[in-house]
Amino acid sequence: MTREATERDVAGAVAAAEAAFGVAPFRPGDDAARADLLDALADALAAERHRLVPLADGETQLGADRLYGELLRTVRQMEMCADLARQGAFLAPVIDTAIDAPPPYGRPDIRRINEPLGPVAVFAASNFPFAFSVLGNDVASALAVGCPVVLKAHPGHPETSAAVARIADAILPEGALSVLYGSGYEANLQLVQAPAVRAAGFTGSLGGGRALLDAIGQRPDPIPFFGELGAVNPVIICPAAAKARGAALGETLAMGATMSMGQFCTNPGVILRPKEAAALDETFEAGVGKAPRHALLNGRIEAGFAKGAEALKAVSGVTSRDVGGHMVFTMSAADFVANGIAREEVFGPATLLVSYDGEADLLAAVGKLEGSLTASLHADPEDDALADLVEPGLRRIAGRILYAEISPGVALTDAMVHGGPWPASTRADSSSVGALSLGRWTRPVAYQSCPASRLPAGLDDDNARGLLRLVNGEMTRAAVSDKPAKPADDKGRMKTWRND
Ligand code: NAP
Repeated sequence: MTREATERDVAGAVAAAEAAFGVAPFRPGDDAARADLLDALADALAAERHRLVPLADGETQLGADRLYGELLRTVRQMEMCADLARQGAFLAPVIDTAIDAPPPYGRPDIRRINEPLGPVAVFAASNFPFAFSVLGNDVASALAVGCPVVLKAHPGHPETSAAVARIADAILPEGALSVLYGSGYEANLQLVQAPAVRAAGFTGSLGGGRALLDAIGQRPDPIPFFGELGAVNPVIICPAAAKARGAALGETLAMGATMSMGQFCTNPGVILRPKEAAALDETFEAGVGKAPRHALLNGRIEAGFAKGAEALKAVSGVTSRDVGGHMVFTMSAADFVANGIAREEVFGPATLLVSYDGEADLLAAVGKLEGSLTASLHADPEDDALADLVEPGLRRIAGRILYAEISPGVALTDAMVHGGPWPASTRADSSSVGALSLGRWTRPVAYQSCPASRLPAGLDDDNARGLLRLVNGEMTRAAVSDKPAKPADDKGRMKTWRND
């Protein structure tokens, strides 16, 4: 069942996805039908929770509490994608009716809508056996917009993947979701290079993401690649906040940093705090020491962690302490600025505490930070002037800025961004969670002077579906009015342009 995928398996799965695309429920306008399927998947996942969680726990050691929580999140993601498919905001319809005037003030009738890309490939994550795996957010969002999926299960949890795939098989039509197993890089490369595959989503290592991106670059027709790769998720603690709440901050940070043995994409990996913050250091170490321990997800992550920790240990100015299996590294901001290796993610139970000596020191360190999923700012009112200077640096690097919070969690909302500049993700304009995640699998198509009978659903004058649309510059659910659109004011230029 979970045997290594062969070249033939990959070709078969891609052909099935290609055949499913454009056939019900993967036709334009089938959004409600697909939404019903996603709701059915959510219900089936919920019903099977007591079977799925022990299976995933046996394969990942992530613990039942965490896995029940993750499965509930996966159910909610599926429901949210169903709601978004029904609501149709991802279609983002825009209608500019014709204006009878000479160009550039006149225009033909142009209408735009987002359309599904076609079959897509998704690579499951090791550290989220439910939320970023067989029926995870990448799959839910792709199905929601009408893209059949070929999913590569992660070799770290094959039996959990197979159990979830059986649930999906019983509900989804043929070709909607095919699951491939094994740990053969060849099959992965074949998948992203398959001509029918129109985009790929990935959560994993920088090396794996880079290899797939390079393979896509070799295609005659490179496709979009949405990779979530690595992030240090810096936490910046300003002096007044450290003085007022250092001990409490240390405790909370320890909780965040040790969740799931640090195997979280939003794990706070680098903490920048003023050099006089002894209380924070003390409670942080004490909290780390008390945190529960379990084995790392798999041998590859163990090896990656050992290599990353060794490399950081060897950086000039770094001191390290093994606090019950969690590595606590410390260094000065000046050394952090001077050494690129210190700014790389060490995925697993490790935290780097960087001490800064004044404003210039902190700003230099912030200036060296690379793209990250999150950045957290802890500033009291007395820190306002410093926070004003730090904030632009965080805006430059982060997909999401958290204020006085460390929560590694990701809320399922319309506004959420789970992405960021490289190396957090390969596409800073996207998100792998929330409403924005659907946009990865669509592209805008404009219809010019299109007869009413040929317009795709959603662009009709009557707005039969009641979508929120931008019509002649105004957001509305109303039908397109008979009143002709007015040209923009030419400020008299048309009359005098050639003659003045
Ligand atoms: P990974 O090694 O990148 O594997 C993820 C997927 O990519 C797997 O399906 C794997 O293939 C494939 N892959 C990896 N290298 C490849 C290559 N050179 N060519 C083709 N395919 C390749 O990630 P992982 O197993 O989850 O964990 C390893 C490291 O990833 C961690 O130490 C951590 O640094 C990082 N990670 C990051 C996140 C995040 O949220 N950004 C999450 C988890 C892990 P196979 O299935 O064939 O093995």
